[in-house]
Amino acid sequence: MREHNELYLDGAWRAPLDPTVMELAAPATGNLNARVVLGGEADVDAAVAAAERAFVSYSQTTPQERIALLERVLVEYDARSEDLAQAVTEELGAPLALARGAHVPSGRVQIATAIEVLKSYEFTEMRGETCIRKEALGVAGLITPWNFPVLQPVGKTMSALAAGCTVVLKPAQLTPYSAIILAEIMEAAGVPAGVFNLVNGRGSVIGASLSSHPGVGIVSFTGSLAAATQVAIAAAPTVKRVTSELGGKSPHILLPDADLDVAVDTAMTWLMAVTGQLCSAPSRTLVPRARLEEFLSVLVPVVENIVVGDPRAEDTTMGPLISAEQWNTVQGYIRQGLDEGARLVTGGLGKPAGLEAGHFAKPTVFADVENSMTIAREEIFGPVMSVIAYDTVDEAIEIANDTPFGLAAYVTGEDLQAARAVAEQIRVGYVMINDAEFDWSAPWGGYKQSGNGREFGLDGMTEYLETKVIRGG
Ligand code: NAD
Repeated sequence: MREHNELYLDGAWRAPLDPTVMELAAPATGNLNARVVLGGEADVDAAVAAAERAFVSYSQTTPQERIALLERVLVEYDARSEDLAQAVTEELGAPLALARGAHVPSGRVQIATAIEVLKSYEFTEMRGETCIRKEALGVAGLITPWNFPVLQPVGKTMSALAAGCTVVLKPAQLTPYSAIILAEIMEAAGVPAGVFNLVNGRGSVIGASLSSHPGVGIVSFTGSLAAATQVAIAAAPTVKRVTSELGGKSPHILLPDADLDVAVDTAMTWLMAVTGQLCSAPSRTLVPRARLEEFLSVLVPVVENIVVGDPRAEDTTMGPLISAEQWNTVQGYIRQGLDEGARLVTGGLGKPAGLEAGHFAKPTVFADVENSMTIAREEIFGPVMSVIAYDTVDEAIEIANDTPFGLAAYVTGEDLQAARAVAEQIRVGYVMINDAEFDWSAPWGGYKQSGNGREFGLDGMTEYLETKVIRGG
C-alpha cells in the first residue's frame, strides 16, 4: 500500500494547503493499493509563486549550467529506473517488461536529448547588425495524461528546464506514483527550490487553475480533445501559449506488396502490447481487398496467442486497461461495432476467462469495417483493431486522411519508394514505415485535431522560448 501525503513545492515536501485524499486501485486486481493526497487552488497559487521566484535566477543560467543540472538529473534517473518501472506497472498495469523496456527508457532519452540539444543550440544569433535572442518564456504549467506516466512528465519537464523555464507539473490523477518519483529525482539532483514543483490533483481543479493562472506563461497539455478545449478557453484571457498533444485514430496502410509478418508486428507493438492505450495506436488497418483474408489468417493466430494477465508475470504480453471506466468505454465500442455490422474476427465482449477481477479486455479484431462506422472514427483507447478493405492505393490514402485526427500513421510495403510516397500524402505528424524503430527524440505532435505544437528534443525545447530582437548599441 502506497501512502503519499505531500506535494513537492518550492524545494520541499509539504502537506497541501487545500487537501483531499484520493484512493487508487490496481488496474490488474481492482484492489485498493494507494492513498494519494491531492492539492487545491491554493496549492497551485503557492507552486506558481515559487516557480515565479525561481524563474528570476534560473532563467539567467547559462546552457552549460543547465547541462550540468540535467546531467545530475540523468544520474539520479538511472538510479531510480527500477522504481519507476515498478511504479508504472502498478499504476498503469503495463507489463513489467514493457515498463522496463519502453516506458522508462523513453523518459531517459528525453533527459539525454535535452542535454545534447543544449550543447549545440544557439540562443543568440546575429542577422547583420540585428541581435536575435531566444529567452525562457516563463513558468510552464505541464498537464499530462495517464497512459505514458514517465515519458510525458519527463519529456515536458526536460524541454522546459533546458529552455530556462521553471515548472509546475500536474500529472494525471490515476498515475501519480511515477511523477512523485520524478520529484524525488529532481530533489536528489539538487534542482534549485521552485524550479520544479509537483501538484497532484484533479484536472478540473489543478489543471483548470494552471490554465487560467496569470503567473503561468505556457501550458503544455497532453490528453483528450475535450480537456484541451477547456484548457484553451481558460488560457485565452491571459493570452498564454498553449501547446496540445491529443488523440488519434491512426491508419496503418498495408500496400499491395506488404510483408504481412511485418504488418502484424506493427499491430502487436503499437496497438496490442499497450492494450490499445496509445495516442498513436494503429487502430485502423487498411488492407488491399484481394489480400484481406490472407492478412487475417496471419494476424488472428498471433492475436490469439497474446498472453493477457498479471503485468508482473514474465510471460504477460498484454496488461489490463487502466480503470473500470475505461473498460466500460471499450466494451461500449465493441458493442457498437457489432451493432453497426462489422465482422468480429476474434476477441469481443467481456473479460478473458479467469481474469474477472482486474480491468482486462479481450484483444479484438473487427473486419469488414467501413470508415464511417463509429469504431473507425472515434478513439477507442483499447485493444480493438478495425480492418478496412480498400481497392486502390489512392483510395487507401483518402480513407487514411478521412478523420478529424492527424497524429500518426504506419505504412507497410516492400517498395520503399512507394511507401515513402504514400507517407508524404498522409496528413499526420509522424509516419513509421515497415515497423521502423521509434525515435523518441524526434519532434512529436499532431496535425488537425490531434493538437498543435511539437514536443521532445530540439522542437520540444523551442516551444518554451520567446524571441527578442535587440538593435543598436
Ligand atoms: P484527459 O484529457 O482526461 O486528461 C489529461 C490531463 O488533463 C490529466 O492530467 C487531467 O487531469 C487533465 N484535465 C482534465 N480536465 C482538465 C481541464 N478541464 N483543465 C485542465 N486539465 C484537465 O486525458 P487522459 O484520459 O488522461 O488521456 C488520454 C488521452 O490523451 C487520449 O485521448 C490520448 O490519445 C491522449 N494522449 C495524447 C498523446 C500525444 O502525445 N498526442 C499522448 C498520450 C495521450
